[in-house]
Amino acid sequence: MAENVIIIGSGPAGLTAALYTARANLHPLVIEGYQPGGQLTTTTEVENYPGFENGIQGPELMAIFRRQAERFGARYLTTDVTSVDLSHPPFTVTTAEETLHCQALIIATGARARLLGLESERRLMGHGVSTCATCDGFFFRDKRVAVVGGGDSALEEALFLTRYADRVTVIHRRDALRASKIMQERALANPKIKFVWDSVVEDIRDPEQGKVTGLVLRNVKTKETSRMDADGVFVAIGHDPNTAFLAGQVELDAKGYIVCRGDTSRTSVEGVFAAGDVMDPVYKQAITAAGSGCRAAIDCDHYLASIRTTERLP
Ligand code: NAP
Repeated sequence: MAENVIIIGSGPAGLTAALYTARANLHPLVIEGYQPGGQLTTTTEVENYPGFENGIQGPELMAIFRRQAERFGARYLTTDVTSVDLSHPPFTVTTAEETLHCQALIIATGARARLLGLESERRLMGHGVSTCATCDGFFFRDKRVAVVGGGDSALEEALFLTRYADRVTVIHRRDALRASKIMQERALANPKIKFVWDSVVEDIRDPEQGKVTGLVLRNVKTKETSRMDADGVFVAIGHDPNTAFLAGQVELDAKGYIVCRGDTSRTSVEGVFAAGDVMDPVYKQAITAAGSGCRAAIDCDHYLASIRTTERLP
């Protein structure tokens, strides 16, 4: 028996889609992944989600989202999707354990921030290491922070952080920025922003203290290493959408994001919808993801209603 709708992903987009489709009596099945809750579960305090005037911990916020959708009948499978077959409805969704079928599919698998891959970065994530200045910049009032990267994201993060931090140092592995000219001009003109060129981060200190105290940098040209004091590090070296499992089934853009039709959640496959960071390379906020999850649920409900009407026709 095919499900009405399967939702892949359990961040703000997936769980909002679950809430709305559950309240539309579609009995959604959410495949929440082995690490439910999405990127918010890797942050600590969330202060920019409306409705929580004193802030809330990221994992707690996602637990509330989950329970709220469950109250209206959303069901959850804690597993990862390995592949999908969207060539014809009902669509096939394969997990490590079983093969499922659905009339409609909402893809809300999010994106992941690229990381440097250091053990110290992993241990200090949420404790001075962050991938989102909009989320965490506020905690660095009058502090010294480093931003890693040379693209638009890095400079946008750096400029945003100058509202709070005392000193912002952009560390870039080359001597030329990738960012757009206008962002370069703004960042270079900002007296709070300094640049360290041709340098990579070799280590972040100090996991033993459970907080960021500084960085070990290596100049890629001279091979010299140096220490830099810092209270926080923002890694801004790009994002990758989680679309590898879609492998040619639905239209993606050059960077791997799902392409939606106009101002809707409809993808290149009728009956397949996308929501959240997996189709949004620009805003990437919990609240925008939640909003797009709502949109996908409404588009999905309309689609299912339309195919049911068609099926009843002689
Ligand atoms: P991006 O353009 O791919 O830039 C990533 C930056 O990180 C590059 O400077 C790259 O260095 C560096 N980098 C990558 N891997 C690294 C590593 N392992 N170690 C050290 N440095 C590393 O990504 P993005 O800045 O996130 O931007 C993505 C897209 O969104 C772009 O098209 C951008 O224009 C757009 N965007 C626009 C705005 C805006 O207009 N306000 C804001 C944000 C993003 P190299 O330069 O050496 O490759």
